[in-house]
Order: sequence, then structure tokens, then C-alpha cells
Amino acid sequence: MSTTRGAEAGPPDPRRGIPSVDAVLTDPSVGHQVDRLGRARALQIVREVQRQARQRTLPPGEVVSVVATRLAALADSPGPRPVLNATGVVVHTNLGRAPLGEAARAALVDASGYADVELDLATGHRGRRGGAVRGALLRAVPEAGDALVVNNGAAALLLATTALAAGREVLVSRGELIEIGDGFRLPDLIESGGTRLREVGTTNRTHLADYEDALAHGAGDGASGTARTSVAALLKVHPSNFRVAGFTASVPVAELAEVARRAGLPLVVDTGSGLLEPDPMLTDEPDVRTTLRDGAGLVVASADKLLGGPQAGLVLGDAELVGRLRRHPMARALRVDKLTLAALEATLRDPAAAPVTVARRASATELRDRAVALHRTLVDHGVTCEVVEHEGRVGGGGAPEVPLPGWAVALPGRWAGPLRLGTPAVLGRVHEGRCLLDLRCLPPELDEVMLDAVLAVRTAAAEPG
Ligand SMILES: *Cc1c(COP(=O)(O)O)cnc(C)c1O
Repeated sequence: MSTTRGAEAGPPDPRRGIPSVDAVLTDPSVGHQVDRLGRARALQIVREVQRQARQRTLPPGEVVSVVATRLAALADSPGPRPVLNATGVVVHTNLGRAPLGEAARAALVDASGYADVELDLATGHRGRRGGAVRGALLRAVPEAGDALVVNNGAAALLLATTALAAGREVLVSRGELIEIGDGFRLPDLIESGGTRLREVGTTNRTHLADYEDALAHGAGDGASGTARTSVAALLKVHPSNFRVAGFTASVPVAELAEVARRAGLPLVVDTGSGLLEPDPMLTDEPDVRTTLRDGAGLVVASADKLLGGPQAGLVLGDAELVGRLRRHPMARALRVDKLTLAALEATLRDPAAAPVTVARRASATELRDRAVALHRTLVDHGVTCEVVEHEGRVGGGGAPEVPLPGWAVALPGRWAGPLRLGTPAVLGRVHEGRCLLDLRCLPPELDEVMLDAVLAVRTAAAEPG
């Protein structure tokens, strides 16, 4: 039997049967949940489930029942609850850092049941855990000989220093001994694994000679009496969450790598943000590929900052060094689960599509058009507001000071509380007595959800004071 496929005669498009928003929202199994949760929240769920159907990960006939199930589950759930991030801060630490993209969300759902995490379906034998993610990382970073994924950036740094230098010393510039947030300090983290830190240089200036002197002068306590150094590795940490301005000096990776090479020691670089390649917008932000090309033996970074993936820590670099980390007993305690593996692999398939990258690169003109449209509809509904210029920020993920020019809708400040307590919750930026809603961090298809969320709290926000 032969089939001829003409241009018009393809297989029927399964997306045809996807029910409309109204059809879903008025279905009896959904309708009463909409009253409980609010239309804006329900609309957001319907859009997500419709998207799954369009991507063929869900049969169109199941859209209504999946929406009903998700709404019912939500009505009973105390959290974490979804928040519309209207702050303009792209990697928002208090909002769970990077939001996952559609591919990563779909991958999470697929992996949440039984999945071939450690099984090779072709042979039926045991497969390598994390093999797909490792492959994706090595394709994205061809400079790396091997790659490993652990629980977060802190875990990657702890594992690297412990596996390479426990019981010995790591040389690090005094200006790079940073606190990463919420009271956690890198020196304490590293020392908790049994590695001693040998600080070189001063807070604002560290020179090549500082490292060379430390290496030439052997053990840090000077008491061992041996000429042999107890330094096991050199460490460079990118001070990702602050800038030292003024009279400063630090040693570039390429020069430090040369010192390390001469001493026969590995250089570990913590780049922080997880940026894989140079980005013209973020000229001060180190990226993994350049850092490895410059001679670092290992790079460690977070996956949920500028890379835009799930919480995870990346280790990339020399195959022998990565192997030592992988075989260290601590690696088993820091490993990631199948959901992280799935979401990270999906994020790596197309890093430019990650929501943090899209939000970071959103054009000011497009943001103005969206703000103007939101403003116009709000005014039509009797809401007093205006459109103002507003600079977004990359946020806690790195490049903290880089301004992202855009626009916002400004409401009176008394809206902020009711918006936070709405469903879905909306977090605006309270600034100079106003509540600013910046649409940068929202995919455009959620502008409608934002509008509904604002209108839903009109009564609560109407009471001045
Ligand atoms: C964020 C950061 C860390 C910690 O990473 P987590 O993923 O939060 O554990 C460590 N080092 C640097 C330089 C960072 O920017």
C-alpha cells in the first residue's frame, strides 16, 4: 500500500480539537473552582494546559480534566504559590531564581513518573545516570573534557575543594571571600569540607606575585618545616553579587592558570552565574567557555541564575579532575534527582529560549507597547495609573548593576499589598510611593493574566491608606 502526501493532505492536526478558554472555564467540572481561585489564576492554568496540548504532550480530549485536577489540587495547596514577577528583576532570589521554560516544564512532567534515569532502553541494561545532561553540557561547552551536575553552586564548590584539597590548602584572593546571601559565606563552606584556605593579597588588590610568593613559601602555618607546599589547588571566585570600585586589582584567569600550571596544581574557578558563552550585554560577567579556554582546570557555577535552568551546580573541565570529583564519596550526597536532570537537559537544548534570557533581552519598545496596552485597559476600567520608564535588573544571578531599560505601569502604592495577596499573587516594585508593574519578566501571553489579577483586587486597593 502506498500513500501520497500532498501539501494539503498531511495527517490531521491534533491541535484542532483543543477546547477554547471559554469552553474550559465554563465546563461544570472547572467552573466552581474558578469561583474559588479567581479567574486570573484559572486562566493561567488553562493557558499552560492548552500549551501542553499544542505541543502534543497531552491529548486535546484531556485538557478539561487536567485543568480541573490542577485547579482542585491548587485550592488545597498552601504553597509554594505562583507569583507574577512584575519587579523587572530577572533572577529574583526571593522568587525562586530562574523560572523554567516550557520545554523544561514539559520535561519535568515526563520525568515525574517512572523514567529511564539509570536504564539504557536499547539494551535493557543499567545506564549511566545523568548521561543525557552530561552530553548536553559537553555539546554546549566543547572546551570541557567532562561534566558533572550536583545540587547547587555551593555544592559544586564544596565538592571541588574537598575532592582536590581536603586536608591541604587552597590559595584564594582575600577580595574573593564573599558572602553569597542569607549569611552563607564561601570560606565557611569550603572549610566545612576540611580544606584550609590560604588567603593572598588584600581586599581590594591582589597581584600575581601574591600567589607566587604564597606558593614559594610552602605551608600556611610555616611550622611543618618542609619546603614542600601544602597548597593543593588555586581558587578564583567571581564576586558576582557586588562590585569593588576604585583602586582595585585582580589577576585574570589566564595569568593565574599559568601560575597554577607551573606549580603543577589545578585552578578551580567559581564563575557563579552559569553563563556558558560570552554575552555582549554582560561584558563583566565571566562565562564558562572562555574561562576554560583561558586555562582553568575546573569551572563551577549555578544552573538557576543566568543559565535559566533548575537549581543545580555545574562542574565542567578537565576529565581527570571531574573524575576525581565524581568518585569522591561526597558526590553521592550532593547528587541531583531525576526532575533536575530532566529540566536541566531541556534547558540546555536551547539556552536562548530560557525565560531569564528572553526577559534579559526584551526590547524597551516591546515592553513599552505592552505597558501601554495594559495601561489603556486599566484606564478603561476606571483604574488610575500611568506609563513610566523603568529600569529592570538582572538581579541576584550576576551582573547586579547592569541596567535593563524598559517601562512599567505605575499604580498608587496602596495597590502593592492587595496585589501580593491576590490570586495569582503579583509582586510589583514599590518605589517612591508607587507600585510599579514591569512586564519584562512575564511572557507576553500572561499580560492578560496580569490584567485580570489587577482588576480582581480593585475593590481591596480602592481603600486609601
Ligand atoms: C551564587 C553563587 C554561589 C552559590 O551558588 P548556589 O547555586 O546558590 O549554591 C557560589 N559562588 C558564586 C560566585 C555565586 O555567585
